[in-house]
Amino acid sequence: MSALLFLYAGVPWIYGQLARRSLERKAKEHQALVLTFDDGPGSNLTQAILNILADSKAKATFFLLGRNIAGREAIVRQIAEQGHDICSHGYDHLHGLKTSPFRVLPDIKRGWSAIDAALGTMRKKYPFRPPNGKLNIISLLYLLVRQVPIVYWSVDSRDTWQEVPDTLRVAQLAEKAGGAVSLAHDFDRKNENTSRYIIESVRAALTMAADKGMRVLTVSELLDLGE
Ligand SMILES: [Zn+2]
Repeated sequence: MSALLFLYAGVPWIYGQLARRSLERKAKEHQALVLTFDDGPGSNLTQAILNILADSKAKATFFLLGRNIAGREAIVRQIAEQGHDICSHGYDHLHGLKTSPFRVLPDIKRGWSAIDAALGTMRKKYPFRPPNGKLNIISLLYLLVRQVPIVYWSVDSRDTWQEVPDTLRVAQLAEKAGGAVSLAHDFDRKNENTSRYIIESVRAALTMAADKGMRVLTVSELLDLGE
């Protein structure tokens, strides 16, 4: 690997691994279940998830994709009004290493603006989860300088895989680890099985957390807790 490539892609990769491990450790240390949803909002699935969360009085975290907000501003406001954590996943789901940094950086800012526009706020920045978990050095430095939390996950629900996993996957992995930041996606699916899997998987994870006395927290709540 050339030195330049190492700097461009390797350094952010190492940063990502360390950030991922530190998040995993923190979830474990505080026995926390942090449910996160990427790529939304969806018109139907987000609402279904919000209903389950409301039933359980649990809070989750939504990494909104800017381009999915148009026409769904009401659901973004509902997410905020119900006390969930709103974070950003960029605007156009650009791969941080396969796209020019001159496109990726404006896309991050555009993602934040889309949330602010929907909420009528001027926060200007939100914790960021890189699409596909991929960052380049320019985005990384920009986010670090602006003190934007870069948030990964520790348990993948695999809800974007062709084969739908067992409903208990997230609950079991989170229980085994003693705490987890789980990843699922709340954009609308054509496949009913996938939508059902996500809904049941969230229910199972919340039941497990209640049974085991695990705290259900948002990303911001977890990050605010001390080491
Ligand atoms: Zn995504």
